[in-house]
Amino acid sequence: MTKRKNIAIFPGSFDPFTTGHEFILNKGLELFDKIIIGVGHNATKSSFFPLEKRISWIEQLFAEEPKVSVASYQGLTVDFAKKHNANYILRGLRTAADFEYERAIAQMNKTLSKGIESVFLLTTPELTPVTSTIVRDIIRHGGDASMFIPNALDKSEFHLKNTVAAQNKK
Ligand code: ADP
Repeated sequence: MTKRKNIAIFPGSFDPFTTGHEFILNKGLELFDKIIIGVGHNATKSSFFPLEKRISWIEQLFAEEPKVSVASYQGLTVDFAKKHNANYILRGLRTAADFEYERAIAQMNKTLSKGIESVFLLTTPELTPVTSTIVRDIIRHGGDASMFIPNALDKSEFHLKNTVAAQNKK
């Protein structure tokens, strides 16, 4: 009998994708046969970086990794998981506060869909303070957030002047 492949989704806002996300994804690749990164898209809530940008950075990062794909989604995370035939939801943990937040969501997801298990990976001490919210705040206040962005990406996009210029071009 062939064993069912272990497929995980890694859902989040990824606004933007940080070194913290990269660490969790790379660790997840040691466990799963395939990971689909789900970029959450909320029609009523605006993001800092446009959806297309958030997706395109992830595509660039994992262009050479056939086990990783990316898709946007709206609505329930468990529905996104089912659509992609995933049996796991991968999430990262930084702090006890993350754990409490994640626990509630994971237990709700399990109630909604029994066959889908949430798996949490703990981040490293150095990456614990890295959050997309702080990265956005640094950029908004004119700082250089590039050290929190994966090395393979064009870091010039993570300075305020370039972000504003790019947004004005649209
Ligand atoms: P959300 O908007 O759902 O909180 P995020 O884009 O902020 O999504 O994060 C997606 C996932 O990555 C979450 O599980 C989050 O806990 C995890 N994550 C974010 N930053 C880090 C980090 N520095 N280390 C480990 N996990 C992280």
